[in-house]
Amino acid sequence: MRKHWRWLPPLIAALAVSLAVGATAVAGGMTGPDTSTPAAPDAPAKTPVSVSGVTAQRLTASQMLVKWTETPEAESYMIMRRDTNADGWACVGRARAGETEFTDDLGSIRPRQFIYRVDPVPADRTRYESVPGDTALATNLVICLDPGHFRGSSGACTDDGKTYRECDFVLDVGLRLRDILRDKYGIECRMTRENEKIEVFGRVNYDSNVELRGLYSEGCNIFISLHTNANAHGVHGYDTWYQPVYINKPMVILNTMACDDELMVDMANRLGVALAEKNYELGIAANDTFATMRAGAVPEWGAWHDDDPSSAGLVCWRKGNRGDYYGVLRGSNSVGVPGMIIEHAYHTVLGMRKLANDGILAPIYAEIDADCIARACGFTPLSELE
Ligand SMILES: [Zn+2]
Repeated sequence: MRKHWRWLPPLIAALAVSLAVGATAVAGGMTGPDTSTPAAPDAPAKTPVSVSGVTAQRLTASQMLVKWTETPEAESYMIMRRDTNADGWACVGRARAGETEFTDDLGSIRPRQFIYRVDPVPADRTRYESVPGDTALATNLVICLDPGHFRGSSGACTDDGKTYRECDFVLDVGLRLRDILRDKYGIECRMTRENEKIEVFGRVNYDSNVELRGLYSEGCNIFISLHTNANAHGVHGYDTWYQPVYINKPMVILNTMACDDELMVDMANRLGVALAEKNYELGIAANDTFATMRAGAVPEWGAWHDDDPSSAGLVCWRKGNRGDYYGVLRGSNSVGVPGMIIEHAYHTVLGMRKLANDGILAPIYAEIDADCIARACGFTPLSELE
């Protein structure tokens, strides 16, 4: 018997191998191709390479500066641009390895909105393939935003322990507006102030004057001064700070050159209509009407526009002894920048101040302002692109 045990283990081993092969074959038949044998080698999969860190910003009204992070696998780069009002991507230039910026000449100063991308051309195309990477949203516009006044230069009123100051409220609107224009539309802003004081051309607060704010917009495409309005004391027999809701209306005042500018008048109309509707919806205005105007036919402001409870908000122009009545508009006009003052609502109405003091109104106005400004320029929010 011992002799026979000697060949039993090899027999069992052979049987086990045969069973295992059978099981593999059955399993293979049930689940897919037999993977026990390696497939014939294909061409190795290429490693995707893309460019990250892409940014684009306005250099001049007709030039954009595109920057990116160096990609070691690239022997060159293709700078790709998509106009958001047109279909498809176009290669607008090439850059060599080691270069990380490119100036895109637009050939025009017409306001345009773009998405940029940089595609790497791999040095070793047998190992690497180029795939689309980061994109950057940008426009060739820069807007000068002027949150009106400075701390101490506009009146204050305290209701229920909360103080409304026009200077602080419009600063809140302005900072939010700057961020929305940049992040949502790719529009850059130059701010006349970003805190409670004004400092332009080295002149601070009362040492400054409002005309300087307008002059500060030189080189920008548009100047926009942000305000809330106040009616004269004693109008219709009411104390200044407690005037009736029916006086509330938005007003948009254009500088002289903006009155003939189709884009500016369209923008002013959109702003006025949207603000009037929102003020009414919020219960801080008695009606939602706003009188829109045509370029070349913008009416002159009159005191009756403020006082008459039946007059709608409107786009207008106000004449002074030296051209534009308001210094900020005179300043911007003198440096060739079309400008406007947005009077969002009357802060002499209690309901308006309460919404502002509760933090509700500034985000709403900033969103309305941004959308009207950008839509008038023909721009699209990032969320609606791709
Ligand atoms: Zn003001």
